Amino acid sequence: MQGAAIESLGLDYRYEAIPVTPEGLGRAVAGLRDPSVAGFNVTIPYKGAILPLLDEVDATARAVGAVNTVVNEGGRIKGYNTDSPAAVRALGEAYGDLGGCRVVIFGAGGAARAVAFGLVPKARWIRIFARDAAKAENLASDIRRQHDVDVLGAGLVGAQCSVGAADILVNATPVGMSPNVGNSPVDACILHSSLLVFDLIYSPERTRLLQDAEAVGAKTLGGLTMLVYQGAEALRLWTGRRAPEDVMMGAARRALGGGTR
Ligand code: NAP
Repeated sequence: MQGAAIESLGLDYRYEAIPVTPEGLGRAVAGLRDPSVAGFNVTIPYKGAILPLLDEVDATARAVGAVNTVVNEGGRIKGYNTDSPAAVRALGEAYGDLGGCRVVIFGAGGAARAVAFGLVPKARWIRIFARDAAKAENLASDIRRQHDVDVLGAGLVGAQCSVGAADILVNATPVGMSPNVGNSPVDACILHSSLLVFDLIYSPERTRLLQDAEAVGAKTLGGLTMLVYQGAEALRLWTGRRAPEDVMMGAARRALGGGTR
């Protein structure tokens, strides 16, 4: 996706994957301070662990507690979180005005944090459900410490009632991701037609959860748009250029085996 964008813009950059072990994180980041490196992305499980290794962290990433994009300016490295605005942008396009929306989020990991903090300024209430209730409660209390908002975290058993009253349901767990495409994190019988169901998973593009949601007449949004938007914002931060999102979307779809639809 990034390679296709770089080529399309005619830039003299290269984007490559670097495998990093937990013990090697500090060494890898030190190497990436080389002024020839414009920046880099950070993925699971280092989005939180990288914070103390950076010279600066922007306000959104600091609030979320996770960095997915780092910009290198002459050896000084600054962390950003482009997942959070990308999720809100994708959701806003699919849902419309997010003001006053009632949101249920399944999962309490890095992506749930990015979505929850992004929606806080707009949502009427947010309910976070995770198999580990303590993690959901912990995320909710992190949000409450920073914002005056109605947010609660709990174990999965309490989800049904909140889903019934929600406008937006977000899956921020990996349940349903390839190759476990038959699984859904949400019992289909609690879905309803007034929901917009946002599954952060992008492979497959149409998860079991999204199929169940479509079957009850709910609106749906897959994770690919957010993936492209977070990458487009990262590319803009590194290069100062507006990213060709259509090119990135096509390349991502091809890479994921979905053709050029
Ligand atoms: P993460 O930090 O590992 O968090 C995953 C969350 O899901 C945790 O709350 C975890 O619970 C829960 N979970 C894992 N397996 C589960 C299961 N079998 N049943 C119920 N809950 C389960 O991962 P993440 O970074 O937040 O990513 C979550 C998903 O979002 C992944 O599918 C990822 O690909 C997707 N994502 C998409 C985008 C995008 O641009 N579209 C961006 C980021 C992430 P425990 O803590 O108990 O393990």
